[in-house]
Amino acid sequence: MADKIIYLDNNATTKVDEKVLEEMLPYFKEEYANPSSMYDFSKNSSRAIREARGKIKDLLNAANEKEIIFTSCGSESANTAIRGVLNYDKSKKHIITTKIEHPCVLNVYKMLEKQGYKVDYIGVNANGELNLDELSHAITDETALVSVMWANNETGVLNPIEEISQIIKSKNKETKFFVDAVQVAGKIPIDVQKAGIDMLGVSGHKFHAPKGIGALYINSKTMITPLIIGGHQERGKRAGTENTPYIVGIGKAAELAIDNLEYEMTEVKRLRDKLEKNILQNIYNARLNTGLANRVPNTTNIGFEYIEGELILLHLSDLGICASSGSACTSGSLEPSHVLRAMNVPFTSIHGSIRWSLSRFTTEDEIDYVIGELPKIIDEITSISPYQNELKALKEMRMVK
Ligand code: PLP
Repeated sequence: MADKIIYLDNNATTKVDEKVLEEMLPYFKEEYANPSSMYDFSKNSSRAIREARGKIKDLLNAANEKEIIFTSCGSESANTAIRGVLNYDKSKKHIITTKIEHPCVLNVYKMLEKQGYKVDYIGVNANGELNLDELSHAITDETALVSVMWANNETGVLNPIEEISQIIKSKNKETKFFVDAVQVAGKIPIDVQKAGIDMLGVSGHKFHAPKGIGALYINSKTMITPLIIGGHQERGKRAGTENTPYIVGIGKAAELAIDNLEYEMTEVKRLRDKLEKNILQNIYNARLNTGLANRVPNTTNIGFEYIEGELILLHLSDLGICASSGSACTSGSLEPSHVLRAMNVPFTSIHGSIRWSLSRFTTEDEIDYVIGELPKIIDEITSISPYQNELKALKEMRMVK
């Protein structure tokens, strides 16, 4: 294993901030009381949970902290919102979503289709931007729910959530709107009131809290049937003794996300842009898969034409550099991701697509190191590609430009 790690896979998960860990520790040790108990000993843990709820409320600009419930992850937040709202009111059977949602959303809709729901999957253009006309035309009186992710995890492309909410409400005021905001928390400002969102999910481990904690915003006008039934915790919307240390952790992470938002939108973006610009300038078979689409500040998805992404990742890994490819290993074959396929990324670059995702802990030295090493790696892999004629033609074309 390489002696240093350059972690550029922050859309997969992030490092826990030291300040988050510090804040959590007392709730494993001294403050272990069940927050729902009656005695004084539980007062500190119940207060800590109240404060954490307030911090998530601030991160999302919710009207009231009663609108926030804690879950175990982004997947649970999405499941609770989608299944919860449809189980509460079963009168309408039409749902609209997108082709590029995370599996924790898409697979719920696949299940609901089997239960008799009709689901429309809205497509995207070559840059990964949603077709809003298609979405608008799909809304009918029967539409119970629209669910659109705020930013895509593979490309970082942002969907115009406020505009989508206006389209929905202009067509059917009763339709509920769920937003998977897992990839935007801590990267861009979130304002659930301004954006007209009914339900929104986030996941702690994507913004420097530990894995195993998430949050869900449900506005006061939206009713759900809970997914987990039992005690009265989380105002009856999610049973189970509260995970005090992790709730404290996501609360602290939310506070730090607000404090670091400006840095994320300027400095993290500057480093992302530096990496992207250098790759595109210095590697002739590199292609920016999202074109000029509006993206979160930390992500770039670049295809390396006529070579395999997995091979690039293995070479990077030898140097301690962590990134992701656009493929998912399904049933032994390397299938390109559903997101890149929905964008019709050309076959020449879909298999060689790499997602680079930075965080506030990414340094300039790390980016410079990648910029220095990557061209050598790509050269080596390109030299053994079976597509030498195509690569030669591509090189001549790009050099002429
Ligand atoms: N939604 C998006 C856009 C994601 O990127 C992820 C995780 O990668 C999830 C949902 C699921 O979050 P979790 O891993 O916390 O269940």
